[in-house]
Amino acid sequence: MSSAFKNALQQLERAAAHSGIRPELVARLRQPMRTLEFSLPVEMDDGSTKVFHGYRVQYDNTLGAFKGGVRFHEQVDLDEAKALAFWMTMKTAAVGVPFGGGKGGVTVNPKQLSRGELERLSRAWVRAAFPNLGPDVDVPAPDVNTNPQIMAWMADEYNRLAGRPTPAAFTGKPIEAGGARGRETSTAYGGVSILEALTKHSRKLSPGATVAIQGFGNVGFHTARLLHAAGYKVVAVSDSRGGIYDKRNGGMDPEHVMTRKRERGMIDGVYCVGTVCDSANYQRISNEQLLELNVDVLVPAALEGVITESNVERIKARVILEMANGPTTPTADEQLFERGVIVVPDILANAGGVAGSYLEWEQNRRKETWSEEQFFEKLRPLMLDAFEAIWDLSQEKKIDLRTAAYVQALKRISEGIKKGVSSRA
Ligand code: NAD
Repeated sequence: MSSAFKNALQQLERAAAHSGIRPELVARLRQPMRTLEFSLPVEMDDGSTKVFHGYRVQYDNTLGAFKGGVRFHEQVDLDEAKALAFWMTMKTAAVGVPFGGGKGGVTVNPKQLSRGELERLSRAWVRAAFPNLGPDVDVPAPDVNTNPQIMAWMADEYNRLAGRPTPAAFTGKPIEAGGARGRETSTAYGGVSILEALTKHSRKLSPGATVAIQGFGNVGFHTARLLHAAGYKVVAVSDSRGGIYDKRNGGMDPEHVMTRKRERGMIDGVYCVGTVCDSANYQRISNEQLLELNVDVLVPAALEGVITESNVERIKARVILEMANGPTTPTADEQLFERGVIVVPDILANAGGVAGSYLEWEQNRRKETWSEEQFFEKLRPLMLDAFEAIWDLSQEKKIDLRTAAYVQALKRISEGIKKGVSSRA
């Protein structure tokens, strides 16, 4: 199996060659500042105790507190957590939010746990990580299979241990627990804003372009919904159980697909039981077929490593909007660039999530409550300024957008070190 972290480091080396930064910085960024592994004993409903394996990787904090999600998934391991934490470091620096990068998770299929077991696991993760967390130290957020409900349990456990309310310690919280109106859709909003800005620069896209989206969770669903509302034709969507394709090419309404999926109910009020495949009026396709559809825009919005050397030749999309982290391997990336496919890299395309988290954190620290309108008024320029700067850099240096985004990130981290803003011990 390919290593996500190895792929991430290849991206770093490629960008370093264009950035003019000192080799010492590259060497420093080849490994995380700190990795934490936890054994998490959790009492199960039948009275037994099950021990889960948890992680937190604190990659770099030159530009601010470590920042990144917590993932609950069977595939979580240290290699994946390191890759995701590295990408967070590049992302926060590329878009210019005052954070470093981190990531965590638990190796678990959370859908096999009851609500009580899931809550106890979420709280156990916080107890283990607590000495290394805090609003100015490390601020976790949701990722795959961790939603506002799980953030609420985690934030509550943190407050209990800290002995005082500390809303800025976690982001992606429910509104009633200090969350920001708009944060839940901020990742999708950022990606869609960037795609629209790209349409102005590139002839590869025109209004009404066709889109296929892999993954129909927080990021995939909201991206589908916003693209549909903006006039794009969403012709295919998928989740872990397969995909659906609109043969007529008129595009589907993602809200209807979600309604069908939700009709099957929720597991203990936390996860949806249904799948996009519950929408009977479309052709069933596999996740592999979805990636290879003849569409204008392909949006991977599930897991890493799905566009690889083994399928890249069959990818027909003209633009790839990487809403998932790490969906394209470096070899596939090179081939896509040679073929003139525009890849909007994860560290830019999905940075609306961390930019939204930054706004939530800021709102909590100021003890203010912003409206959804105020939230998006602040988010939009953050995303568009980042995109325009990275686009200009890619044009000026004749490099792909990923390399340009990395160059931007490396410059900011390097300047941070020079100015002595590093909070590294
Ligand atoms: P989620 O748990 O809400 O949804 C994940 C979706 O992916 C689900 O629809 C699931 O069925 C699907 N999926 C899982 N395994 C799959 C497979 N093998 N093939 C196809 N689909 C599969 O998670 P999310 O928060 O939407 O995160 C999705 C991606 O976006 C991840 O790469 C995550 O790191 C990235 N991301 C999330 C955020 C955020 O704010 N939530 C921010 C930035 C990046």
